[in-house]
Amino acid sequence: MGRKPMIAGNWKMYKTPGEAAALTQEIDDWLRDETAVTDAVEAVVCPPFVDLKPVATVIEFDKSALKLSAQNVYWETEGAFTGEVSVPMLVDVGCQYCIIGHSERREYFGETDETVNKKVKALLAGGITPIVCCGESLDVRDAGDTESFVRNQIRGGLDGISAEDAAKIVVAYEPIWAIGTGRTPTPEAANDVCRSIRATIGAMFGPDVAAGTRILYGGSAKPENIGLFMPEPDIDGALIGGAALKADSFVSMIKTARDFA
Ligand code: PEP
Repeated sequence: MGRKPMIAGNWKMYKTPGEAAALTQEIDDWLRDETAVTDAVEAVVCPPFVDLKPVATVIEFDKSALKLSAQNVYWETEGAFTGEVSVPMLVDVGCQYCIIGHSERREYFGETDETVNKKVKALLAGGITPIVCCGESLDVRDAGDTESFVRNQIRGGLDGISAEDAAKIVVAYEPIWAIGTGRTPTPEAANDVCRSIRATIGAMFGPDVAAGTRILYGGSAKPENIGLFMPEPDIDGALIGGAALKADSFVSMIKTARDFA
């Protein structure tokens, strides 16, 4: 099916601009001569807004294979929206990707499937690829409702998008109870949800879009367990929080992903 694995590091609200530039440099120092790895695996860093320019400068100066992603965006292109950042701003700074609908944004900042949908449409219109996050709470999982909950998030977040645009989207399945907790589902259980996400995408946009969509696992992924998730047929990489904040662990996960490319 030819889905190129993606390993994306979500730096959340960590790293000052100086620290972010240094971390990017360190990651690139490890990866610079590893073209077999970076040709096979897409490696993405997702720093805070103020870090985007310094990180982009390192990427550009080094001719790095690393790709740049934001962690959020606003759907209007410009205007009196104090504190917000637009898609054209992200394009100008060099972003190719943008995380949307992370569970922390849903929980702390009122993100809903409707706002996710507006942001996804704005990103696609502006030429940035959304990394759309979904995932259930422990209550939902314990009630046995994981697949229907996640299906609704996907249906709401991707509502009204053309199949051509949907084909560009990356999905990250991140069970909330696994984020930053050290707990993970079994690889088989994570794959079951990813398979169901793929089926939902198939029902919305057709089998070809479903077959080509990259679906990442996220939630306490680390060097010690990434090799268990990557062989699963519906898992195409990982969105990584804590373990992406150190160059050696992030790079080792990229290298492990290469073995399954
Ligand atoms: C995340 O924030 O997207 C994430 C998966 O975090 P962690 O890897 O730390 O669980």
